[in-house]
Amino acid sequence: MIGAPHDDALARLRAMQAADLPVHGGRTLAYVYDSGLPDIDRIGREAVAAYAGSNGLDPTAFPSLLQMENDLVGFAADLLDAPDTCVGTVTSGGTESVLLAVQGARDSRPDLARPRMVLPTTAHAAFHKAAHYFGVEAVLVPVGPDFRADPAAMAAAIDEDPDRTVLVAASAPSYAHGVVDPVTQVAAVAAARGIRCHVDACIGGWVLPYAARLGRSVPAWTFAVEGVTSISVDLHKYGYAPKGTSVLLHRTAGLRRPQYFASAAWPGYTMLNSTLQSTKSGGPLAGAWAVVQSLGDTGYELLSRETFEAVDAIVAGLADIPALSLAAAPDSTLVAIATDAGCDAFTVCDEMAARGWYVQPQMSYAGQPPTIHLSVSAATNAHVDDFLTALADSVAAAQESGPVSVDPGIAEFIGALDPATLSDEDFDGLLAAAGLVGGDAAGLDLPERMAEVNAMLDLASPAMREALLVAFLDRLARPVRQRTPERVALDAAKATTESSE
Ligand SMILES: *Cc1c(COP(=O)(O)O)cnc(C)c1O
Repeated sequence: MIGAPHDDALARLRAMQAADLPVHGGRTLAYVYDSGLPDIDRIGREAVAAYAGSNGLDPTAFPSLLQMENDLVGFAADLLDAPDTCVGTVTSGGTESVLLAVQGARDSRPDLARPRMVLPTTAHAAFHKAAHYFGVEAVLVPVGPDFRADPAAMAAAIDEDPDRTVLVAASAPSYAHGVVDPVTQVAAVAAARGIRCHVDACIGGWVLPYAARLGRSVPAWTFAVEGVTSISVDLHKYGYAPKGTSVLLHRTAGLRRPQYFASAAWPGYTMLNSTLQSTKSGGPLAGAWAVVQSLGDTGYELLSRETFEAVDAIVAGLADIPALSLAAAPDSTLVAIATDAGCDAFTVCDEMAARGWYVQPQMSYAGQPPTIHLSVSAATNAHVDDFLTALADSVAAAQESGPVSVDPGIAEFIGALDPATLSDEDFDGLLAAAGLVGGDAAGLDLPERMAEVNAMLDLASPAMREALLVAFLDRLARPVRQRTPERVALDAAKATTESSE
């Protein structure tokens, strides 16, 4: 073997991974989705490994990848009541699916200099990323008191400039509140004006159809709804596939066409892409294919049953913790929990982490206080009692320690800051003051308790919050330079070659 003993790197990986959130065990209630079925996991991972070197750049060179993509798109189309005209693409994730839906809508109207899209305020941040990347103005429409999109208000927003409006979106469900938008009405508004309507079912698309089969009441949101032109659904969420796959479906091939990119304007191969990536690993596609083939409708229905059992038990259990309430009754598998004034939501998150549970803090937005997000998956069902005990204990601990106090002077200062006027040095100072990085702005010393940091971020304007976190990420992402003896020798050789030139 060249280099270090060949299993040394793998042993080191395993050691490093111990610091990460666990992806198994059902105790991580965001970022990961755990079927609780070790065989399914193994099959997915073996498929990823088998295809890690295959290149999805050219489906004629790797026809098995084309086959797998068509199988997955077909499965999704069946699940989502698509007509026979439906086509689709497997992408790297929900964000890429949303990006492509927006890019396709924009490029269906090359005549427009300033395209716009109309979104409920609860639409996923991926739409804002798409607006930023593709120069499509995002027109945000406030949602109703139930956190669902307001079709009349969306219609009014479209009608301010219908010709420039290339897309209307709805969520099934929204990530932050877990409720399904009134897709029938939103799609009707779009269709009446000849505008595309994308349903972002990234997180609910693989579980809501089974919820309906289990007899739960789910408002219509699929291609069965007239006027829905595209739907995104992630396989790496409730498809329980390894990370790196989502499906973007279009009602017709014509709607998909502007998504494709080809370039023969160079001397190499003609580049022909359906996604943002060009060379792309076959691994995630194969992993998703293997998991979907193995679970099938029967498996997904069973997993959905488990997941909804857990959701129902959590909802019932919340009634016994007076400081907590539902921000909205969940339409799907996401639970948003609000806390009363005597219980700090961010502290509850820290206390849960100390008890081995990861729940996700959501900052205040548009006048709504912070909430705690849960993405419940099948593996959580076996541990719901334990979860509820941990939650009750965490609430008691948060009540005991009282609200996180941010010095009023600092609060006022942060609230008044305009990120555009701040220098790098200002950000270093602020990050240090917030406890996010050390004074020297170096190293990965992440704070153990986040409540104080979150409380401070929560006071900042959204623009300031973005700027602070970007500065934080910038400070974290710094290369590790290694002065190994081999490297020193290489550099010495370079120096000799240069001097002899
Ligand atoms: C997760 C999610 C996305 C983005 O998906 P990624 O896979 O994280 O890129 C988009 N929309 C909704 C509703 C989501 O839940």
